[in-house]
Amino acid sequence: MEKLSDRDKKHLWHPLTQHKVHSNMLAISKAKGAVLFDEDGKEYIDGISSWYTAMYGHCHPYILEKVGAQMQQLDQVVFSGFTHEPAVKLSEELIKILPENQEKLFFSDNGSTATEIGIKMALQYHFNKGEKRNVLLAFEEGFHGDTFGAMSVSGLSVYNGPFKDFFIEVERIPVPTMENIEGIVRQLQVRLEKNNVAGFIYEPLVQGAAAMKMHCAEGLGQILALLKEHNVLTIADEVMTGFGKTGKYFASDYIQTKPDIICLSKALTAGLVPMGLTTCTENVYNAFYSDDIAKGLFHGHTYTANPLACAAALAALELLKTDEIQGNIQNIIQWHNKFDDEIKSHPKVASTRQLGVIYALDLNVKMERYGNLRDKLFKHFMDNGVFLRPLGNTIYILAPFITTKSQMNRIYGTIKSAIEMV
Ligand SMILES: *Cc1c(COP(=O)(O)O)cnc(C)c1O
Repeated sequence: MEKLSDRDKKHLWHPLTQHKVHSNMLAISKAKGAVLFDEDGKEYIDGISSWYTAMYGHCHPYILEKVGAQMQQLDQVVFSGFTHEPAVKLSEELIKILPENQEKLFFSDNGSTATEIGIKMALQYHFNKGEKRNVLLAFEEGFHGDTFGAMSVSGLSVYNGPFKDFFIEVERIPVPTMENIEGIVRQLQVRLEKNNVAGFIYEPLVQGAAAMKMHCAEGLGQILALLKEHNVLTIADEVMTGFGKTGKYFASDYIQTKPDIICLSKALTAGLVPMGLTTCTENVYNAFYSDDIAKGLFHGHTYTANPLACAAALAALELLKTDEIQGNIQNIIQWHNKFDDEIKSHPKVASTRQLGVIYALDLNVKMERYGNLRDKLFKHFMDNGVFLRPLGNTIYILAPFITTKSQMNRIYGTIKSAIEMV
């Protein structure tokens, strides 16, 4: 039998890949807990939870059981004009843990659609109120997805060139630090007088795709408070930071001023099935609530609020709230702290940062985001049975909450040997 990685090449086109220079894709045949198994049976610890989704471990028996039961009951139904128990229950459960100003939930399929909908909500909110606001604000180096609205506000991709001419109008602000925040606030105060900014989209506290870059909660709070005063809708893209990774349910929980809109996906369904979610305040919702049909939000996806995805999300939420998972999160935070003490003054380590279970270190070497040295590091990790995806000179860990101490030590050990290697 021909290997999967060879058969793959005949018809498949992979995401974020230049196939001409890329080697074979690694075929994964199964996954369990924190471990991926390739087609030859080699094991890899999933140090990034398959892009921050499988936070409770792969193929978690409780989630499988709940989704299996839902499959026997109701698989899929149109969500325009219909509703169902899993969606209603999920809305009730999510409202309990979301920031207290969030009231309404709009489902979709993935992180990009979640942000796309957040952007559309912000633009239409002002349109419905008869105000002409056509500019969005976003952080430098933000990442919000790959659909058009999401691409427009993303400040990161060097690969968005072909589409630039078709983007929404976006202005960028630097992420806040203790040093620059005064300047940012001063400039914003002047800028906002034009009254044409509709919304501000941001990844709160941690910018995932920018290699887990972190910024200051206090500065972000000041920016949000100022934007609120000017009736600019704030859109927290918590697609990466949501559901416990930062040590709180949401990164927004660290900041006093709450966002008007929150975008969620990734760990929402624990890596089992895709789902996106955009939540908002009563005030946002009310701008669409009208006798005028055209003021509604005419956006929808076929699989909106798919019952199986809702069941997965409900099971994941139950797990997240358990003492066991909350305890695991605290353990990982301490293990990271200890690892950080060991390596932060290593001459080849330029800097380190941590929030919750998210840990990142920058190497003291110049590297391209997807260059040779980066590939060498990646190979070193994989050869040692650890799946990490270094970005430029940054190595980061975002392993599942259920990662054991010995698995985490394996990750740390492989990072230490990688540091010696560069
Ligand atoms: C992954 C991600 C997205 C995009 O989600 P997809 O499901 O890949 O479309 C958007 N925003 C943030 C912060 C992300 O991490």
